[in-house]
Amino acid sequence: MRVMAMDKVNPYIEINPAAIRDNAACIAAKARPFGCEIVGVTKGCCGYPPVAQAMLDGGIRMLGDSRLENILRMRQAGINAAYLLLRIPMLSEAAAVVELADISLNSEVAVMEALGRFAVRRGTVHRVILMVDLGDLREGVMPADVLPTVARIGRLPGIELAGVGTNLACYGGVIPDKENMAALLQLREEIQRVSGKQIAVVSGGNSANLQMLWRGELPPGINQLRVGEGILLGNETIERQKMPGLRQDAFCLYAEIIELKIKPSVPHGRIGQNALGEVPRYADQGPRARAILALGRQDVMVDGLLPLDEQVHIIGSSSDHLIADVTDSAVSWQVGMKVPFAVKYGALMTAMASSYVRKNVITSGSK
Ligand SMILES: *Cc1c(COP(=O)(O)O)cnc(C)c1O
Repeated sequence: MRVMAMDKVNPYIEINPAAIRDNAACIAAKARPFGCEIVGVTKGCCGYPPVAQAMLDGGIRMLGDSRLENILRMRQAGINAAYLLLRIPMLSEAAAVVELADISLNSEVAVMEALGRFAVRRGTVHRVILMVDLGDLREGVMPADVLPTVARIGRLPGIELAGVGTNLACYGGVIPDKENMAALLQLREEIQRVSGKQIAVVSGGNSANLQMLWRGELPPGINQLRVGEGILLGNETIERQKMPGLRQDAFCLYAEIIELKIKPSVPHGRIGQNALGEVPRYADQGPRARAILALGRQDVMVDGLLPLDEQVHIIGSSSDHLIADVTDSAVSWQVGMKVPFAVKYGALMTAMASSYVRKNVITSGSK
């Protein structure tokens, strides 16, 4: 069988490491006056080593990822950083967590007990950050359970309580503010008072905290933020605003036009379900220029694609096809041309995870 020249295959996502480096450096510089360290979160890129390296080039020293596979990938690529496991660990992966992560976010004593057991076996101590649920209702112990949980952690061999943390704006959409940040700091104080031990890390959140950081309103004492989307896409995540000083040009997805024809805007025939079980509706706009691109929902979360040509409109997609209305475009699109898209987080993460989407790193230095 003939082997395809995989370095030329479409679709592909173009990655600009200089933009990632600049964003990491800018966010780290904003945080530094607050004594706050930025953990560069790589899960949106599956721990793709050139992305991780770009974060380090921007001055980041700790990388965070939700998956051990990604941490292993970065370590095997020789990415020299401290690694924070973001997703609270599965009991079944405890041994690997101790081996691969320098520190992990946790909320279950049973899991921390297992982590401690494997740490003792390896002759090390595993560091944990205890996650507290401050209202968003994803991971974390409820505030009232923090002190009893800390007491139990204190009895676990092989475990060091390195910090407390919280994660907002992920499930519930709760906005980080002075009140919930103060609550986290207050819990740290109480833990220190009751345990008599110093709690070094207060991990206050993610890219949803960037507005707070830019306004200079990060409360002193919040000494760690775990930032992914802000570094990768250059926006905060409460209103998805572009942040001044950050770049939005780190990623661009290209897909090739495989058919381009003038067709009616309303299908002909009785309408049932489409390929993915939805019943579509159409407005009659007369004949339109429709481009079919070799890109589909098996490659990328199509909802997260933004055509760079604003006169190109995505009108539908199935597993392997994307249909775009190009009637109003000033570009004379042709079969074989590649249409560029900016990506939102969902499109970025799925494109990076897809084996069908080629990754193309720009190597021309600081573009
Ligand atoms: C994904 C994740 C982050 C990073 O979130 P962004 O919005 O990409 O900055 C931080 N903390 C935890 C626990 C996460 O799972």
